[in-house]
Amino acid sequence: MALLVQKFGGTSVGSVERIQAVAKRIAASKEEGNELVVVVSAMGNSTDELSNLAKAISPNPPQREMDMLLATGEQVSIALLSIALHELGVNAVSMTGAQVGIVTESAHGRARILEIRTDRLKSRLENGQVVVVAGFQGTSFSTGGTAEITTLGRGGSDTSAVALAAALEADKCEIYSDVPGVLTTDPREVQNAQLMKQISCNEMLELASLGASVLHPRAVEIARNYGVLLEVRSSWSDDCGTTLTSDLKNSIGLQGLELGKPVDGLELLENQAVLALSHVPDQPGIAAKLFEALSSGGINVDLIIQATHEGNSNDISFTISQNALAEANKICEELIKKLGGKLSTQNHMTKLSIRGAGIMGRPGIAASLFEVLSRSGVNLRLIATSEVKVSCVIDASLGTKALRSVGETFELTEDQITINPMVAGLGEPEVRGVALDKHQAQVSVRKVPDKPGTAAALCSTLAENGITLDMIVQSERKHSDGSQDISFTLNKDDRKRAGNALIPLLAQWPGASLEDGPAIARISAVGAGMPAKIGTAAKMFRALAQANINIEMITTSEIRTSCVIAEADGTKALNVVHNGFNLHQNI
Ligand code: ADP
Ligand code: ASP
Ligand code: MG
Repeated sequence: MALLVQKFGGTSVGSVERIQAVAKRIAASKEEGNELVVVVSAMGNSTDELSNLAKAISPNPPQREMDMLLATGEQVSIALLSIALHELGVNAVSMTGAQVGIVTESAHGRARILEIRTDRLKSRLENGQVVVVAGFQGTSFSTGGTAEITTLGRGGSDTSAVALAAALEADKCEIYSDVPGVLTTDPREVQNAQLMKQISCNEMLELASLGASVLHPRAVEIARNYGVLLEVRSSWSDDCGTTLTSDLKNSIGLQGLELGKPVDGLELLENQAVLALSHVPDQPGIAAKLFEALSSGGINVDLIIQATHEGNSNDISFTISQNALAEANKICEELIKKLGGKLSTQNHMTKLSIRGAGIMGRPGIAASLFEVLSRSGVNLRLIATSEVKVSCVIDASLGTKALRSVGETFELTEDQITINPMVAGLGEPEVRGVALDKHQAQVSVRKVPDKPGTAAALCSTLAENGITLDMIVQSERKHSDGSQDISFTLNKDDRKRAGNALIPLLAQWPGASLEDGPAIARISAVGAGMPAKIGTAAKMFRALAQANINIEMITTSEIRTSCVIAEADGTKALNVVHNGFNLHQNI
């Protein structure tokens, strides 16, 4: 007998017939002798429909009332599924988040789970009942002591399910959806997307936060942190889906189920060099040429950052190991002779990185990293952000000092700190999946001071307002007054709030202003084998160049490469990159 948590998404319970089909599935699993906790989402698009009703009344409805409204969607589906189970003779009981005791923070619309009381669930399971729990919702206690209904954020039923599995120490959490499992990319965009048999939680965390909506990133974070065995499967067939793997098995700490320490590692990689090409032409194929030439020279490029300037030229910076500097210099010099542009290099650099899960999902983490570095007087030469790792390239002479302050800030122990780690990902695929995010907007802050603390100030101001900024690029170029530009992408829905939040900060920097870029899409490739393989980024840039797609921005992290492109090119880009890595061939 196994204890299983099974989650059925909106499409899977989108009609009476589908609810009946899901009930049959559950009945069969119960018949096999399993103990079952079932989590369901609201039927079909009902969360969107409820949301639209509110928007028809107010452009800016109070978040508390939105939670009150949206939580009703799941209440409908748990009751209907329970009724369907009773019809099949299965003893089932529906429970809301509050009835179970899913206790969350009070942040309406994006509450994190603090605790799940398991006693009420366990007593029903002991009675042989199937418990049908409303996903996406919980309850918090307001300062006045009144219980408030909260929601976890769109797509949050996955998180409810995995959190229940962690709290109950279930044998497995099965996520049933309208796809056969996790595919190499979104099958709605790319017809020949293929099913993956398995994927690591770190890769899935990156993909999920970069647009692969099949799993809520926070669900993957919980699976990773508490070692929940997670499977994604089709609601319509009995085929095996995708298994997510993780080596960690933390116990749920006192800090709260979803609030456990998000940073669990710190690394210093010494002997790095930064090469910066500026004023190179802004046209398809430039990045491909550069990184192909480096790859043919056997040079393993680590971080890559590119931003477009004044619409007609690019600055591209990248890091390599110091001992490849002479060769890389030669290759770059030859290239700029043909293409135009300027080259500058910096030796004796160090890369400092924090590791964890859900780092970008908690905007305060990157902000506190940048803050502690700026307080120690460390200027950030390059920044690379991602869901599982944030890296800063800094002057080598400040490495040890930076390591100490960052370690203290994130309360890391000696064994969580590594100096010059081995290259990760040997034997793993360089790209396991690709994702498209159409919900990002590109923004530049013009004329900010070039001194420690600028990136930290931007990040903290946005973090205080719950806004994550992604793909941060500090430009190579300086204005005549020595100031520089910082570009970043953020979720479109946060753009207006970000503008308002930044007003007081920008007022402190004379001449600074916020500028919107053109409509963009972001395409990302993710693979655990990326650090160990030479030329992965070059392949992605070549695939885009062959389709005549211009790259406006590039950022990378350890296991991902992301490019910002024109919004209209999104689907085409996803297809060419997917096929460029041969992901369409059965894996
Ligand atoms: P549910 O309602 O079951 O939670 P979602 O709509 O949230 O379903 O997630 C499933 C959808 O995610 C699929 O229909 C698919 O279009 C999309 N998707 C995006 N990327 C991927 C991917 N890599 N693998 C599978 N599905 C994906
Ligand atoms: N019903 C919620 C939504 O549509 C939660 C979910 O489906 O996971 O976002
Ligand atoms: Mg979903």
